[in-house]
Amino acid sequence: MKKTKIEEGKICPKCGRSEEQVNRERNRSGTRRCYCKHCGIMYTLEPKKREYSEEIRQQAIKTYYAGASGRGVGKVFGFSKANVYNWIKKNTEKP
Ligand SMILES: [Zn+2]
Repeated sequence: MKKTKIEEGKICPKCGRSEEQVNRERNRSGTRRCYCKHCGIMYTLEPKKREYSEEIRQQAIKTYYAGASGRGVGKVFGFSKANVYNWIKKNTEKP
């Protein structure tokens, strides 16, 4: 059976998936490089950066309105439910 490992914060910048993201290396400054099994690209994870792209935010908000809970959305996208609720709040406050 195939096991899918999902780690928090690991999202492929190309396909946006959080599963099948493999750790490749980690240097002294804490930079992690990951490999996406789906599209075969390497990308750098910057643990200090806690910002998410507008695209991912919109995806998260859509997922929330599709019926997922804040916690569920956070699990899928790899961020905290507080973030999710903040974005939804900001999104609905738009004039
Ligand atoms: Zn990918």
